[in-house]
Amino acid sequence: MFDFVGLHEQAKEKLQALHPAFLRLRDQGIQKQMLIGDRDSQTVVTYPPSHKQHAVVETDVYSNPLHLRKRNTLYLHVPFCDKICQYCAYQRTAKGPEDPRIDHYVDLVQKETQLLASANHKEKIQVESIYIGGGTPTILSEQNLEKLLQMLDKHFELVAGGEFSLEGSPATITEGKVRQAMQYGVNRISIGVEAFDDHMLKVMGREVDNRERVFAALAAIRSAGISNIDIDLIRGFTGFYRNQIVRQTPQDVVTDLLGIQELEIPSVTSYQHIVKPKSLGYKKRQKFNFIPEEKLLLHMMFNMGMEQMGYQQHPIDFHHKTQEHVYKHQVYKWGDMTNQIALGPSAYGYLNDTQFTNHFGADYEAAIQQGKLPVASQLKLSKEEVMRRKFVFGMKTGVSRAEFEQHYGINPLETSARDTLHTLEEAGGLEITPSHIRLTEVGRLFADWIQMCFYSDAHQRTPQDTPPPLSN
Ligand code: SF4
Repeated sequence: MFDFVGLHEQAKEKLQALHPAFLRLRDQGIQKQMLIGDRDSQTVVTYPPSHKQHAVVETDVYSNPLHLRKRNTLYLHVPFCDKICQYCAYQRTAKGPEDPRIDHYVDLVQKETQLLASANHKEKIQVESIYIGGGTPTILSEQNLEKLLQMLDKHFELVAGGEFSLEGSPATITEGKVRQAMQYGVNRISIGVEAFDDHMLKVMGREVDNRERVFAALAAIRSAGISNIDIDLIRGFTGFYRNQIVRQTPQDVVTDLLGIQELEIPSVTSYQHIVKPKSLGYKKRQKFNFIPEEKLLLHMMFNMGMEQMGYQQHPIDFHHKTQEHVYKHQVYKWGDMTNQIALGPSAYGYLNDTQFTNHFGADYEAAIQQGKLPVASQLKLSKEEVMRRKFVFGMKTGVSRAEFEQHYGINPLETSARDTLHTLEEAGGLEITPSHIRLTEVGRLFADWIQMCFYSDAHQRTPQDTPPPLSN
């Protein structure tokens, strides 16, 4: 289906046609150079930024059971992997499946869940979606996976039609683990594929023989009976291999698109590679000599290729073939602003207008051994900040104007974000229709930076590193 030269040329033409919009966005401080990453580059997953939260000795976020009788999602963090990938900034550690720390972690997270459940909750807590992520949850042995699944089953009830995802790597997913997880309601599997090209995977620091491993993992998942399968891919990767800089190329994008087509993947999450401060590649980033135009071309090729194969993008960066494969957990969190229950070290949550983050490492263990929920920091948001949070995350899903007004009692165009909305609309980054506010095609390429435009003065980003000079 794919004609490499054709897609490459089409994407170049599209970018040329969008050039005036890039210029208008640049006038608003949103520049192509941002795509190369800087000191504050983060995928926007919390608002306010988590470092603005206050340290707490003991949390009150779960203390009122009424707050949990609303729409809940649940995230459980499993911080173990086989190896550490060059680009990764998540909280994780690697020693393989036999690492004795995994048994200890499972004990701790069981105690944490018990603490949460016993904080005034007699009944199971209803949740609309559960995501077991990491890390690589499928690194767990069947015994440990069973313990975690039993623990969730004991304290939480997935509502009818709810989504229950388990994340894993092609090398650690087995049919036995999938069947086991299905007994507890898991109905969606997310696989960290990242790239289909083996050399690129080597550079990333991941397993190779990916195509074969992904084939085997998909066969195991499908044979067990799960059809809602997602894969993660990285767009615009740049890294080091034996002191050489390696960049993803247009041909690599085509390889990924062909992999998606060949394996008939119904749902694809495509992350933009940003060199994050906690990743192994961060120290060398100034040598990467990034070229923003190249990254843009890769993004555009990927998006156009996915569209040509019949995928829709919703939320931004999440591509699905049919409504059945929409990633609901993220739509609930970002679009509907549901509660987020957080379990496991470094997991972050949101409840009763309060955003919070768990401890990790020794502090996580110490809190639980003292019988305390392991929340390290939290921040209660004012109504004004709650509305800003809605705009920040609504940029990824689109904001329904009627729902906003019904929920917050004010027309979104009359809030303190009105100037930002109109400025971004004039710049071509978002469109305001009678029913919705959503990013445009150009805006989607800069989604994280447009999201940051909605931060209040109190939570603006700190000054950036100077981006490295352009090489062309
Ligand atoms: S990217 Fe995924 S698999 Fe790689 S180290 Fe990070 S959490 Fe582990």
